[in-house]
Amino acid sequence: MTLIWETARRLRQKVVRREVSAAEVVRAFLERQEAVEPKVRAFLHRVPEETLLEEARALDRRLAQGEEPGPLWGVPVALKDNMAVEGMPMTAASRILEGYHPPYDATVVKKLREAGALLVGKTNLDEWAMGSSTETSAFGPTANPWDRQRVPGGSSGGAAAAVAAGEVPLSLGTDTGGSIRQPASFCGVVGLKATYGYVSRYGVASLASSLDHVGPLARTVEDAALLYYVIRGRDSLDGQTWGAPEAPGHIPEPLESLKGWRLGLPKEAFAHPALDPQVKETVLAAVDLLASLGAEVEECSLPTFGLSVEAYQVLMAMEAASNLARYDGIRYGRRMAGRTVQELYEKTRGEGLGTEVKRRILLGTYLAQAPQYPLLWERADKVRRLLRKEMEDLFHRYHLLITPTSPTVAFPFGALEENPDLRAYADIYTIPANLTGVPALSLPCGFEPHLPVGLQLLAPWGQEEKLFQVARTYEEEARWPLKPPLGEGTGLGGKLEP
Ligand code: GLN
Repeated sequence: MTLIWETARRLRQKVVRREVSAAEVVRAFLERQEAVEPKVRAFLHRVPEETLLEEARALDRRLAQGEEPGPLWGVPVALKDNMAVEGMPMTAASRILEGYHPPYDATVVKKLREAGALLVGKTNLDEWAMGSSTETSAFGPTANPWDRQRVPGGSSGGAAAAVAAGEVPLSLGTDTGGSIRQPASFCGVVGLKATYGYVSRYGVASLASSLDHVGPLARTVEDAALLYYVIRGRDSLDGQTWGAPEAPGHIPEPLESLKGWRLGLPKEAFAHPALDPQVKETVLAAVDLLASLGAEVEECSLPTFGLSVEAYQVLMAMEAASNLARYDGIRYGRRMAGRTVQELYEKTRGEGLGTEVKRRILLGTYLAQAPQYPLLWERADKVRRLLRKEMEDLFHRYHLLITPTSPTVAFPFGALEENPDLRAYADIYTIPANLTGVPALSLPCGFEPHLPVGLQLLAPWGQEEKLFQVARTYEEEARWPLKPPLGEGTGLGGKLEP
């Protein structure tokens, strides 16, 4: 197996054992990027080869001098371009930030550097993380590596596509309503949205602060866990992290059997009219596999499931409108000239922001000022509280809940704009975990017919380890092939090489 298809854990191991140098690892991935990036367009910014090689050689030297290697030593990692990295541009895929170079590192970036990761660049996203396809990016969409006529999902579409295409073994995305898990599902990779407040958002562009999460994308559950534990933890610069565990995380091995595990299938999720019958069948086949390993699977009920999207729309738009007010042409990025301050604001925001972003700012601003505001907000918040209560009750009976990650497989470019239903329901399965804050993981569970399908597992607050245990057990048993057909031959139809 060539270096690019190795897991992050194995890559680090090889570097640390000096079987390969970090510089060789970097070269292998840069070569891969040269070959496939014109087809996939996952990146908005790539670090120049010389800079990366210098950083890699520095790691090799420090290792030779006896330094204790960190958990991601020599592993290339890509970052969604809504995170601040000193020395790299940051756009959030918006024209309004063009020319902005953050003078500091986001906390997650700092942690990656300390772990010995090599930061290779910034990946494409929907503008300001608003969308489900990367089509709202001001710099053009990313293609799905499994079918380049289709979207990679979004908003972390570039991060998912880069990992799926073998351009990096790991990437970081953000998830406010599903933006890590849905692209992971569309691109056939693993994506984790951990417990709310377990990963610092300092230095990451805010969309809706009560729903925003940062998390890993990887090709295996073990790699996702590895990256997650590097970035997890309390941070005085993000007050919401006060409850994050300080102890190092444990990556569990796959289990021999799932005897004793109780898994709940919310019937409202599986009966939803937006769910594609083939996706449903694929997910249920995965559930059968879990049952054949000994898990007790039972239908359960999450009555408020059907109201989550509406509640999310209200909360997200209101928070987004207030968070995005800071991009005014004065503090960051691009500035259009105006005779008055008002005119400067209008021109900068009018030209610098895309349609979808304006749509949400207008909606959020309207909602916050409308006479019915208290009622709307209260109702949305009530849905959130009800959902929390219902999930808490379910988690007394079940170790995990299972749903599809997305009602469909990756759709063709343009479909989202043409089909209001697709748009409305793209996030039905992912939003509940953002509203409640519980951890949720998406992992590949089959193909329909040639496009990846994602299985979503939800765990109680703070119980990521349970997700890893069951997901690793499933992954080990199912062994889906994970190389998209980008010209190197191996696509579908075979088992993964051991
Ligand atoms: N697709 C959702 C939206 O557009 C989720 C976005 C996100 O998680 N950043 O709101």
